Amino acid sequence: MSQWNLIIDVARCENCNNCVLANKDEFVGNNFPGYSAPQPLHGESTIKISRTVRGESHMVDAAYLPTLCNHCDDAPCMKKGGDCISKRADGIVIIDPEKSKGRKDLIAACPYGSIVWNADLNIPQNWIFDAHLLDKGWKEPRCSQSCPTGSMRAVKHSANEMAALAKAEGLKVLKPELATRPRVYYKNLHRTTHSFIGGSVVAAINGVLECVEGAKVELLQAGSTVHFSETDAFGDFKFDALENQSGKYTVRVHHATLGYAEREVSLGTTQFLGDIELSGAKAMA
Ligand code: SF4
Ligand code: SF4
Repeated sequence: MSQWNLIIDVARCENCNNCVLANKDEFVGNNFPGYSAPQPLHGESTIKISRTVRGESHMVDAAYLPTLCNHCDDAPCMKKGGDCISKRADGIVIIDPEKSKGRKDLIAACPYGSIVWNADLNIPQNWIFDAHLLDKGWKEPRCSQSCPTGSMRAVKHSANEMAALAKAEGLKVLKPELATRPRVYYKNLHRTTHSFIGGSVVAAINGVLECVEGAKVELLQAGSTVHFSETDAFGDFKFDALENQSGKYTVRVHHATLGYAEREVSLGTTQFLGDIELSGAKAMA
């Protein structure tokens, strides 16, 4: 059976908030009986964008993470909500606006913070994947339709098809340790959850420190190479998607004519090593 999933590429999100506005445009003041009650003009949005900033100096990486209801297959909100919350055959989770009146306790039942409180109507609400539009034949919800960068993509797949797609594209879900089986998948999620080690390689050329392009850079852990890279035209290198608090690393840099350098790193979170100056002529193993 095919069910809906949303795929979000964090690397493509520019924080333009078009998805948030399109969602507000759809639901603020509009009643969709059987699906959702009108959302308030100034209420909390059911789609949110958060920002993560990593690095420093010229190597700063800002990533934007859109979050909304994950339409979990093993949803904690459903366990708490009883007959207030149901899952449709197509995977979409709906909070009944009538049955859920006064159930402010359901906000805390969602471990993703995806249930918001509608103070005007005294009801909890989630992003309903625009089920009312999909039922009319729409091919995607308004958030993905309005995204100018193609960051969001709605797909209707069987569990096997989705698992194969997730594997092929390296998709991740939020808080996998909770085993809620979310239907919202992320590409490049490491930009909000993992760390990088980066630096800029320089060398004295005719008495002046210059950026070194094409230097070979090795990242080692416990004596073994775990990643390999090469500096760009600005002398920069970056090893990304490293686990936070993942221990000690060695960064080894070598250039055929300009020399060698080595740095020890104990990784808590992202570290920009600054300028690394080559000297001597030690060869890399
Ligand atoms: S519309 Fe697309 S690019 Fe803009 S904030 Fe939403 S997901 Fe990001
Ligand atoms: S993200 Fe939260 S509100 Fe949505 S289905 Fe999962 S637990 Fe329920």
